Amino acid sequence: MQVVPVPCLKDNYAYLVIEGGSAAVVDPSEAAPVEAALAKAGVALRAIWATHHHWDHTGGIADLVAAHPGIEVVIGEADAEKVKHITRTVSDGEEIEFGSHRVRVIHNPGHTLGAVTYLVDGNAFTGDTLFCAGCGRVFEGTPQMMHESLMKLAHLPGDTKIWCGHEYTASNLRFAAAVEPDNKDVAARLAALTTPSVPATMAVERATNPFLRDAQPSVIASARAQGLTSDEPWNVFAQIREWKNNFK
Ligand SMILES: [Zn+2]
Repeated sequence: MQVVPVPCLKDNYAYLVIEGGSAAVVDPSEAAPVEAALAKAGVALRAIWATHHHWDHTGGIADLVAAHPGIEVVIGEADAEKVKHITRTVSDGEEIEFGSHRVRVIHNPGHTLGAVTYLVDGNAFTGDTLFCAGCGRVFEGTPQMMHESLMKLAHLPGDTKIWCGHEYTASNLRFAAAVEPDNKDVAARLAALTTPSVPATMAVERATNPFLRDAQPSVIASARAQGLTSDEPWNVFAQIREWKNNFK
């Protein structure tokens, strides 16, 4: 299995997941760059897997369905009504067949209520839930919900490759360094950063992503300095998410 990042729009990533002569595409925000990547790889599009309903993850679906009739178009159950051309909705723990592989669906409500991660062959397509060194904004769920969604992902094996929805890693790492000024792994990751920054590994995320580290004393101390009055991990998460929303 091969994963090909396809830069789209300003800072979005779609991904081709290639097995034999077949491909699925994750989060096609626009069709043209995806078509170009399919042609370059010489593979046929069989499926679209959307991580959530936002236009910058689904905007290319209509054109791709028109050009590749009969392909499967998948999205999480609670996001399905907001997107056209969906042929299949999925829920937590469900599996999709793709060639000889099984793709596991992890429901991650918070950014949207139907947000999902697709996990296949050690690759996690996390959309706008988990970013490299950061996480998405909590638009539809609650901070507690988003925290639980991130903790579910944090338990994936350390060598899991993280392919996220946007190239936000540089600004995320600057924020991580503000949260944990003494975290040497954050400093080293920032110093070594290249673009594209995908994939990261879950082991690196656990060591450097402040939103996966809300039980760490260093992160709790920084959240307290921002006004936190509780040590509950999801309260810590909510405080640093709020801080990041206003971080320049
Ligand atoms: Zn989004």
